[in-house]
Amino acid sequence: MLMNPRLTGLRCIRCAQVLPPGDYFEGCPACLRAGDPASLECLYEPAPAGAAALPLPVLDAITLGEGATPCLDMPALAGAAHVGRLWIKCESANPTGSHKDRMSAQLVSRAKLAGARRVAAASSGNAGVSLAAYCAAAGLEADIAIMRGCPPLQRAAMLAFGARLTEFEDSLARWPHVARLCREEGAFAGTNYLNPPVGTHAYGVEGYKPIAAEILQTCGLPTDIVVPAARGDLIWGIALGWEALRRAGAIERLPRLHAVEPFARLSRARAAGHARGQWLGDTAQYSTAGGTCTLQSLAALARTGGMPVEAGDQAAGRARDMLASLGIAAELSSAAALAALPALRLAGALDAESRVVAVLTSDGRRG
Ligand SMILES: [Zn+2]
Repeated sequence: MLMNPRLTGLRCIRCAQVLPPGDYFEGCPACLRAGDPASLECLYEPAPAGAAALPLPVLDAITLGEGATPCLDMPALAGAAHVGRLWIKCESANPTGSHKDRMSAQLVSRAKLAGARRVAAASSGNAGVSLAAYCAAAGLEADIAIMRGCPPLQRAAMLAFGARLTEFEDSLARWPHVARLCREEGAFAGTNYLNPPVGTHAYGVEGYKPIAAEILQTCGLPTDIVVPAARGDLIWGIALGWEALRRAGAIERLPRLHAVEPFARLSRARAAGHARGQWLGDTAQYSTAGGTCTLQSLAALARTGGMPVEAGDQAAGRARDMLASLGIAAELSSAAALAALPALRLAGALDAESRVVAVLTSDGRRG
């Protein structure tokens, strides 16, 4: 395991300042001082001929077998949604049952290489379980700040992997606790802890880039990809993957990436021109709940030409039932990707020629 020697720096997605490789849990320092947290994106030397088109920060990272997930062709669902083709990218096939494993592999490996002894994170779900598992694999401690309403099976899975859990009443109350562990006690940040928030460590987010290459290999170049989003690590990481493929000459255009939310956050942030607000709403889609969003989500939409789209709990529930009738289990927030298709069609983003991938982030096995 070693850092990729071709990683040359990190660039702020707002002010474009370039920083040397390192651990910036709070994103761009200059933008943070200005009260406007912004993610950093990794920069690499151009790949030599024959090298992988999608470089990652940590080479020979700790693995539990994440990635290379199935991408299922779903003609019946395509017909029901009135689009040309529809695939389901089954991130539930990752070792702990969600896309988070891809990020954990890179992030926990980096924590180990940086000499950290523990990783601290705020999560009541898939991220916490995934980080706990990868920390166990790496021989690191995991400190997870959960909410009182954390699903019992999520809690049990984190404990089984040896994580230390601290319980909070309120989602935002967890962040100062994680901030203290990272700023004062040397913990390595496994999630955001700022408010307004910033994306997770840029090295972790890079772990999502291979999703783009896997989709390209299975489906060719789709027109549209629909991704459930909360703080937007996943949609941003997938966007970075497609951009890297375009730079490498593997594709000529980017697919549009659309962000699915349980209630309107990104559309309101986009209208406001910033992602610093709180846009509250109630939802049973706990993996994508919360009133905040991030600049990196807005960047993913802007760079790919995608749009924010809402899918409420009722529509997501109907989509979950439809998936179940075809033998596919989906967490409610994952089924929301399918539930969002009619609204995208109504908005003119999709039509009968569209080639669409819906990312199923988790199967809800612990929900
Ligand atoms: Zn900046």
